[in-house]
Amino acid sequence: MQTQSVNSGYYAGYLEQECDFINDAALRAALAAPAPARQRVRAILARALEVSEALPPQDAAALISVDNPELLEEIFEAARAVKRKVYDNRVVTFAPLYASNLCVNNCLYCGFRTGNTGAVRRKLSMREIRAEAETLAGRIGHKRIIFVTGEHPETGASYIAAAMQEIYSVKMKTRRGFGQIRRVNVNAAPMNVPDLKVLKAGGIGTYQVFQETYDRELYARLHPGVSPKTDYRWRLYAMHRAFQAGIDDVALGALFGLGDWRFEVLGLVAHARELEARFGIGPHTISFPRLEAADGTDLPAHSLENVSDKDFKKLIAVLRLSIPYAGMIVTARERPETIREVIAMCTQRDASSRIGIGAYSERYGAQEADRQQFLLGDTRSLDEVIGELADLGHITSFCTSGYRCGRTGDHIMKLLKSGHESRFCKLNAVLTFREWLDDFASEATRAKGEALIKKEIAQIRARTKDFPPETVKLLETYYARIEGGERDLCF
Ligand code: SAM
Ligand code: SF4
Repeated sequence: MQTQSVNSGYYAGYLEQECDFINDAALRAALAAPAPARQRVRAILARALEVSEALPPQDAAALISVDNPELLEEIFEAARAVKRKVYDNRVVTFAPLYASNLCVNNCLYCGFRTGNTGAVRRKLSMREIRAEAETLAGRIGHKRIIFVTGEHPETGASYIAAAMQEIYSVKMKTRRGFGQIRRVNVNAAPMNVPDLKVLKAGGIGTYQVFQETYDRELYARLHPGVSPKTDYRWRLYAMHRAFQAGIDDVALGALFGLGDWRFEVLGLVAHARELEARFGIGPHTISFPRLEAADGTDLPAHSLENVSDKDFKKLIAVLRLSIPYAGMIVTARERPETIREVIAMCTQRDASSRIGIGAYSERYGAQEADRQQFLLGDTRSLDEVIGELADLGHITSFCTSGYRCGRTGDHIMKLLKSGHESRFCKLNAVLTFREWLDDFASEATRAKGEALIKKEIAQIRARTKDFPPETVKLLETYYARIEGGERDLCF
């Protein structure tokens, strides 16, 4: 059991009989249950396809224990179907912006940890952050980023809020129009409520914190010493405090490869259910990064329990089905062939990513081990990634309208569960893809993109029940205006 920490006052009110919502014994019992009969698996899949609240962890555990290849294929197909129902065939792309590797914690798996004394430490100034945003928005063509920092007093809420203002103010001339970062999500340390209010006022998109591992004993071993990160529950209740601060768009994740992946999946499901029960709103997205080799730590090489590609695909399918309304993010930590295998179950991926501090504007090219957190698996350009997505039948979307049109919190939850959001997704994917093709695409990718857009518009016209004539007319008007150089028109 965890000892009381200085932070316990921030979550004590949420505990029930001194216990948090990760019921270790119940989750382990669910994983130990015998494999389910085929009928039960099919009933679980049918329930997931209804896209309602997160499934009970027992159902997720039942799906995890399926090994029969045919039944597994049914699980994958259902996961792809849920993705199409909720988000259509679009994949949103974004880029991480690593602003600082100053960190007071000593997470044994991370290149930014205090114990990595060989790391070159650096925090970007506002001018340097602006330069990064200018490259991302003006040269590469991103509209959405995730702003990442280590945990340090110099990069707290006021630094992040000032950085967001700087990033939002960037406007770059492009071939036919202009480029801007329209949504800044943040992956930073768990914070207290006043600090989270500062992020809210600064225009945060999604607030993302990964629990790393839901296994509290392993958590204690991986986060030694005395630092904010050593407190499992301070982290576990980060999203509760976000809701208290008025941030209703939150993202969960676990770092897979530290412990038993099956337990992490159930931890994520339990976390989603807790947020639904407490606030009526589940996580907007789920991330499932796999542990990568990092500078200054040999832990990934001797990773306690690595996750094979086969298990990785399965865990994504189980999460997709168990938290059916959530977006699912696969990251460029993975190799291109792995991403190809799972992308139809996912909604977002990063592309053209660099995770060195200042890496976009100063030295867009090589990976530099001594300045970055870990090594990436997919370093292809955004243009290459978009071309490949088009080959696979996925339209790349740069849509950021949900957040800016008030489609967040319980409003977006209702739209996602009813399948209505997928219509906005489809229309906005066409419009934002048109912008990107005109402003940034190579000849080859542009040709593929044109063909895909044609197909999408034909589908929209044919689905008269989902897209009434006035919607199609508005789409055509917006589309023509974008071709003329206007930007940021959306539904
Ligand atoms: N410092 C903040 C924190 O720890 O919450 C946020 C930034 S941290 C750079 C973002 C995430 O990177 C961590 O939550 C962790 O899951 C992930 N990470 C750390 N080391 C990694 C590694 N070796 N491979 C893959 N992901 C890693
Ligand atoms: Fe710091 Fe986050 Fe890395 Fe831990 S994972 S060392 S808190 S940057």
